[in-house]
Amino acid sequence: MELQTKALHAGYEKDSQGTMAVPIYMTTAYEFRDSEHAANLFSLKELGNIYTRLNNPTTDVFEKRFAELEGGEAAIATSSGMSATFFAIANSAEAGDNIVCAKQLYGGSVTLMSHTLKRFGIEARFFDVQNPESIEVLIDNKTKVIFFESLTNPSIDVADIEVITNIANKHGILSIVDNTVATPIICRPFEHGADICVHSASKYTTGQGLAIGGILVERKGLVEKLKANPRYAHFNEPDASYHGLVYVDVPLPPFTLRTRLSLLRDIGAVSSPFNSWLFIQGLEHLSLRMREHSNNALQLAGFLESHPKVLKVNYPGLKSNSNYENGQKYFTNGLCSGLLSFEVASLQEAKKIVDATELYSLVVNIGDSKSIITHPASTTHQQLSQEELIACGVPSGLIRISCGLESVNDLITDMKQALEK
Ligand code: PLP
Repeated sequence: MELQTKALHAGYEKDSQGTMAVPIYMTTAYEFRDSEHAANLFSLKELGNIYTRLNNPTTDVFEKRFAELEGGEAAIATSSGMSATFFAIANSAEAGDNIVCAKQLYGGSVTLMSHTLKRFGIEARFFDVQNPESIEVLIDNKTKVIFFESLTNPSIDVADIEVITNIANKHGILSIVDNTVATPIICRPFEHGADICVHSASKYTTGQGLAIGGILVERKGLVEKLKANPRYAHFNEPDASYHGLVYVDVPLPPFTLRTRLSLLRDIGAVSSPFNSWLFIQGLEHLSLRMREHSNNALQLAGFLESHPKVLKVNYPGLKSNSNYENGQKYFTNGLCSGLLSFEVASLQEAKKIVDATELYSLVVNIGDSKSIITHPASTTHQQLSQEELIACGVPSGLIRISCGLESVNDLITDMKQALEK
């Protein structure tokens, strides 16, 4: 089945009512048939619903559908993109370990990696996504993760996924890709060797800025990489918190299984059934939207490139862009998503343009059907130091656009008047 078809049908079997739309199961808990059934569910002899912090039938459809779209084996929905990223790292590394991360990341991920995880004893070492060869010197026997975004926010670089995942595989390290901006419609990291994908579902998945959520997807056959791998003893040794379960010995995808049984159980950042339902609605037309977002962004980027006030346009769909080749290699049909950024001379100039637009909303979000304008240096990336800002590709005159689904003629007209005001 092709992606458009999976987006509409995967993971859902109609119940006895024959409901076309996936029902929203708003419930905290589920009645067990009897005490043996309850014990079997807890010991994994039988699979089924226990408590909505662990699983839920609506969320289950969202997870199965997303896993199919990504070409993975299983998925875990979470309460936000940040919790999906946190779970992916916390499931791989512990105090005393280190992770190797691209420095071109979403601002919240930068602070998670460099400040919050540090307090948990996990050290982040950063590499330049434009120079993946620099990764190898950062690796030692305590390295547990290589983390990067397929299409980076807000610097709009396209990662050379195969170069990075080849290095990860050579050292038996898990590669985790944040595929939020590209979405599985445009980029399929598992086909290029990645192990785990994480997403903020708050962006293109919901598609209309309706809800916060995240999802973590595990590739098929990951168990072979984890089995007897000295970096991941916690998957190979009995888990004392789950009556001695050895994750690689269970015939279930081990990474998502451990995330569910251990991290969702104890940390609890779970997707609400209602939000999972919203994400299911979003997935139904994700492929149509990604095509339109990409077409609009390409035309707007072309206009910006020709404007004298604009110093630089970052959009991998432009032939002049240094990421063009990677975009052609890794993205489906050359679609490059709706995110672009451009640079003007100064912070003051950038703020003036942002304030002069009428059609673009000044919002710290991306992936909405409505176009969004952001000045990262004063908002999403405000907590970063000057050095961190430069390192993650956010000069103070940078303006980010999340190109929506309005008529591109209107978007260009409004941007022109704002630039020339
Ligand atoms: N990853 C990327 C690339 C993002 O852009 C964002 C948010 O903007 C996140 C992760 C975090 O997602 P959330 O806001 O759903 O926690």
